[in-house]
Amino acid sequence: MILILEANVDEQSPIFQQLLTHLRGLSGIHFRVHQEQGAEQVLSEIYLIGDTKQLRIEDMEALPGVGRAIRVSREYRMLGRHNDDQRGNGFEYNGVRFGQDNLNVFAGLCAVDTPEHVEQMLRALQENGQVCTRMGAYKPRTSPYAFQGHGKACLPWVFDLAGKYGMRVIAMEILHESHMDEIREALERTGHPTGVMLQIGTRNTQNFELLKAVGRQQELPVLLKRGFGITLEESLNAAEYLASEGNTKVVFGLRGMKTNLGDPHRNFVDFAQVPVVKRLTRMPVCIDPSHSVGSRDAGPDGIMDVFHVTAQGVVAGANMILVDFHPDPATALVDGPQALLLKELPWFLEDVRLARETYEERKLLATAQTPI
Ligand code: PEP
Ligand code: MN
Repeated sequence: MILILEANVDEQSPIFQQLLTHLRGLSGIHFRVHQEQGAEQVLSEIYLIGDTKQLRIEDMEALPGVGRAIRVSREYRMLGRHNDDQRGNGFEYNGVRFGQDNLNVFAGLCAVDTPEHVEQMLRALQENGQVCTRMGAYKPRTSPYAFQGHGKACLPWVFDLAGKYGMRVIAMEILHESHMDEIREALERTGHPTGVMLQIGTRNTQNFELLKAVGRQQELPVLLKRGFGITLEESLNAAEYLASEGNTKVVFGLRGMKTNLGDPHRNFVDFAQVPVVKRLTRMPVCIDPSHSVGSRDAGPDGIMDVFHVTAQGVVAGANMILVDFHPDPATALVDGPQALLLKELPWFLEDVRLARETYEERKLLATAQTPI
């Protein structure tokens, strides 16, 4: 059960202390307090765990300071949607809104290589009105002899360049909790010229200790990629790990599943699950068409598969797109074959715009079917 406290009932207030005293007296119940910094005020929620069936909603709502009580009907207590749950979805980070009702594009380099390439990429993004990007500094590679990313060494100049070109958020994968500390330190040292969304890659979706460590900080939001060989439910539970530790600023990423049934695509595209994740949880949903498809192959219509699957995800309501571009894919150190060219950026964005417009129209059409 979740108790949503009245606005401005904070941990210092006597009402709050009174409430905690009451909750401590309930047998078979323990609880966890979660505070969310909203635009104007701190919102507090208390998660009751254990034998909550014995508790009546009316009784809990009558407790001092409690605005609403919600019976949790699903496993994903914090990120899930529950009956009578009118809590909003999404969050704002560094001036960018992430929610189930909008769309952000994160085009950029799979892996940071040279300052020239990073700058060319960022300039193209700025020229096309973009404020978000992807830049991999830590790369999980199949071979131990392959390029592992520039790591901490590239962070200061990547952040400075991102600030120079007006980037508000960079999606950046981390493989270890020390990488998170390195990113936070580098942001601090460079004076926060940009923001970072920590990315947990598909190989680490069930690295529970990493999830807990990332969940314990609330400063940086997280993009959690779905595990490529586990069920959707298992991956959604992985997201819940982040929230249960305190960080509810989580975007859930679909990036295709590992099976040869998707051949010749690199992974089996799973964007049919965009509405499923939105229905089960309050997380914004990201699609990664580049790692799903893995090539620049095009259909006889001249449209690349990467474009096609992006449109499919956006038409189904996706909220974020993570997509690989590179100024010179032949020299890219990671994933060159799937990278789009900078000159293809306006085309890509226009294709996304068309797909999003179609989604908005489809929503209106669905609304019109509902009798008033
Ligand atoms: C990536 O986005 O660079 C990446 C490695 O993705 P994934 O974890 O989905 O393979
Ligand atoms: Mn990649």
